[in-house]
Amino acid sequence: MLRVNEIFHSIQGESSHAGWPCVFVRLSGCNLRCAYCDTLYAHEEGQDMTLDQILSRVRRYRCSLVEVTGGEPLIQKDTPLLIERLLKSGYKVLLETNGSQDISRVPSSCIRIVDFKCPSSGHCEANDFENIPRLERHDEVKFVIGNREDYEYARELTTRIETVEKQVTVLFSAVFNGLKWEQLARWVLEDGLRVRLNVQLHKVIWDPHLRGV
Ligand code: SF4
Repeated sequence: MLRVNEIFHSIQGESSHAGWPCVFVRLSGCNLRCAYCDTLYAHEEGQDMTLDQILSRVRRYRCSLVEVTGGEPLIQKDTPLLIERLLKSGYKVLLETNGSQDISRVPSSCIRIVDFKCPSSGHCEANDFENIPRLERHDEVKFVIGNREDYEYARELTTRIETVEKQVTVLFSAVFNGLKWEQLARWVLEDGLRVRLNVQLHKVIWDPHLRGV
């Protein structure tokens, strides 16, 4: 059983899978309260659903890519079971997790997108760096950057990640309506970083305040 905030079909807006149609399973609850959180509604609201009910909703969309997100999906104990069921049913599965939870609980064939928190989130002390050696080549690490301090924090961690697993894609994203994309792009180019800018495509396509897109 899982507490589910929403299940919807949209265009994947982030990661190296941006642009692909994707079914999102947004689970309820989060252990953090980031300053820029754009899914506050997922912290409390939701309904209990069995794994079979979730699978049946996902099947309706006839889409082979599924993202399990939140909130923070790994605070619910049955999330790894859901991911296992989705993988066994033939879906390509992405998991977006906030970096504070042990990703080794999730099957390694799931693509884990670990959103390590930068200082301006107010929660960088929650990052579990034991997750770095748990990363597989297909996994991705994301940093949401709000200022120069965040950028330098993310830059240092990127170096640390590269010494463990060079193939992991590192994504740099700007806090929405915070840091300017142009500024972030300049810093990345000046420092010659091998990271990918992660523009939130769903906020370009749809009204950025809409839910369920
Ligand atoms: S981890 Fe994600 S869902 Fe939780 S408060 Fe931070 S931004 Fe919001």
